[in-house]
Amino acid sequence: MKPQRLCILGSTGSIGCSTLDVVSRHADTLQVHALTAHSRMEQLAQQAMSSGARVVAVPDDAARQRFLAAWPAQRPAPEIRVGAQALEACAADPDVDTVMAAIVGAAGLPSALAAARAGKRVLLANKEALVAAGSLFMAAVRQNGAELLPIDSEHNAIFQCLPHAGATLSSAMPARGVRRLLLTASGGPFRTVDIASLEGVTPEQACAHPNWSMGRKISVDSATMLNKGLEVIEAHWLFSMPPEQIQVVIHPQSMIHSMVEYEDGSILAQLGQPDMRTPIAYGLGFPDRIESGVGPLDLAMIGRLDFEPPDFRRFPCLKLSFQALEAGQEACIVLNAANEIAVEHFLNNRIPFTGIARVIEECLDRMSGSAARSPDSLEAVLELDASARQHAQQLCQ
Ligand code: NDP
Repeated sequence: MKPQRLCILGSTGSIGCSTLDVVSRHADTLQVHALTAHSRMEQLAQQAMSSGARVVAVPDDAARQRFLAAWPAQRPAPEIRVGAQALEACAADPDVDTVMAAIVGAAGLPSALAAARAGKRVLLANKEALVAAGSLFMAAVRQNGAELLPIDSEHNAIFQCLPHAGATLSSAMPARGVRRLLLTASGGPFRTVDIASLEGVTPEQACAHPNWSMGRKISVDSATMLNKGLEVIEAHWLFSMPPEQIQVVIHPQSMIHSMVEYEDGSILAQLGQPDMRTPIAYGLGFPDRIESGVGPLDLAMIGRLDFEPPDFRRFPCLKLSFQALEAGQEACIVLNAANEIAVEHFLNNRIPFTGIARVIEECLDRMSGSAARSPDSLEAVLELDASARQHAQQLCQ
């Protein structure tokens, strides 16, 4: 059988590295064609050497020079594509079957969309693409016969609990008989701390997730629970579910990755170690199950599984996300863009942790209804995204 040829967008990140780890276990069936990175050129060179990638994409000429400096002179270098369009070219490359979309933030939208438009199998980790452009992205999947598989652990779990009969999300998911989607959330590092102390928490504390090892932006999003809010919006688009049928449940152990409740009262759950290699392997092997390197879950050792409702006073970002979803696409774009700017400022110690929710709320208030009509093209989405970023920058300063 011909190996599946992969493009990994964002290969130097947390998801990118986990993907390469799974791929390295299946050299006979999975082949890396293209890798992309933004700042870590030495790591990209290492990855390209060990995976045998034929193409890499880097943001500019300076990055290209750094890549070449890290590449051994005696070995032929891979083709190096440069610039933002290079990401889209890799995603749509005719020599690629499957694209792992693992760039962080709205920066990952154009390339994820290019993969969908080129009719690829798209393993979607980049949730911000769906938050900013859910209808556009899902339409591109449907119209171009792309095969969509969710990699975010919650959505991957839900997909596993739905009756998909071996089909990907390219066809509309039959949600018949489903009462609710139950998204589990660990509650992050600040689930039980005194709410008054949140004003003074540091980026290091916010990035120290109790169960998952992730990139810094998503770690902060988990601490504010904006991440769960983005996931609610993501679930709405992936599974065609109205917001009132999506519920968030705090489950501190992170062993149940999410659940589907059916009309007859049954609840199906997917359990496993909190390790992204499981959903990544699910996507890479689909519809087969393949080895991921993740060990078994010892339920007797865990002993108990706890659940509690989320506290919107502690996690105002979660509430803002539900409000944005109700308000529509523009509000979701503003929510996501304002959050990306606020998180960056928080990580650079320029605003307090609690300032993140304040910036998002203020941007949503100021910008609601600012777009003449619901953004229906990538250009319109990016335009509104840019102006929300500008507002958020001003607020942070
Ligand atoms: P990381 O920050 O660890 O990695 C991000 C990747 O994107 C890196 O390869 C980075 O390159 C690249 N990148 C950053 N900015 C740009 C840009 N402007 N243009 C092109 N490439 C860029 O993120 P994660 O791996 O944690 O997350 C990736 C996505 O997956 C996010 O959308 C996240 O929400 C989602 N996700 C992550 C999970 C996790 O466990 N980490 C779980 C579920 C979803 P470089 O490093 O070279 O700068």
